[in-house]
Amino acid sequence: MQIPSPIEEFQFNNHKFKVKRDDLIDPFISGNKWRKLNYQLAEATRLKKNHIVTFGGAFSNHLLATAAAGAKFKFKTTAIVRGEKVDNEILFFCALFGMNLIFVDRTTYKDKENLFEKLFSEDPSAYFIDEGGAGALGQQGCEDIIHEINLPISNVFCAAGTGTTAIGILKTLQSKYPESILHIIPVLKNLKLETQILNSIPDAKNYIIHEDYHFGGYAKTTPQLLNFIKKFTSTTGLIIDPIYTGKMFFAMFNLIEEQKVKYDENFVAIHTGGALGSLGMRNKFDF
Ligand SMILES: *Cc1c(COP(=O)(O)O)cnc(C)c1O
Repeated sequence: MQIPSPIEEFQFNNHKFKVKRDDLIDPFISGNKWRKLNYQLAEATRLKKNHIVTFGGAFSNHLLATAAAGAKFKFKTTAIVRGEKVDNEILFFCALFGMNLIFVDRTTYKDKENLFEKLFSEDPSAYFIDEGGAGALGQQGCEDIIHEINLPISNVFCAAGTGTTAIGILKTLQSKYPESILHIIPVLKNLKLETQILNSIPDAKNYIIHEDYHFGGYAKTTPQLLNFIKKFTSTTGLIIDPIYTGKMFFAMFNLIEEQKVKYDENFVAIHTGGALGSLGMRNKFDF
């Protein structure tokens, strides 16, 4: 595993920027999913629980990361997968890493804690990790992203699904780089991030939530976004995906080009990983 992850410089549309390459941490335990698992696995170990039970959709980067980390660090892993039984590349890798897959319908899936109780109350080794690795320990891991950076930063960009990563980043950024601004790009509609941020960081400041870059909602896309991704990846060599990082980089360049942010060369984009999860979207592209 590559920790600290490197920070590299890129250029796109004549603008230089830096990328914190959390996508390079591990091919399967990718990006922010390692950040979010790190302290939760340590806590499971401390509690002598060697069976990780977690939750996600059929193309979840988090399930894949948990399966790979489980195999590497000697945990048994079980995934509760949302929806009817399917087979795809991600679940294939999960199974190969030894993860046990349990498919449940969408209604049953909703009450995760209850489901965990019902299925694993007899198993003292079972340890609950929420969907996407969300939670306080997940957030703590994301605080490390900024701890690892030792360059000037003016603006930071990151995608938000649950918002765990953004909140962790903001916490460190505020104290270490009090002049810099965090730009959060929610990838779904109606993410109630503001309240969540203020609950975790009562004196939160210097952040902007950009609500207009979800492209219709979670895993929704448009030809404009897909064309951006094609151009971006083919000219930078960075794989970005249509669910998370594609929307973030689109937003970053849109804000720069429309001069809604004051550009300088100290923009840092957090590459949260997710290349393999985008396999579920490959049919949206026409080549
Ligand atoms: C899961 C994921 C996110 C979202 O992270 P949150 O902490 O849930 O906001 C962002 N980018 C990628 C690539 C992801 O896999």
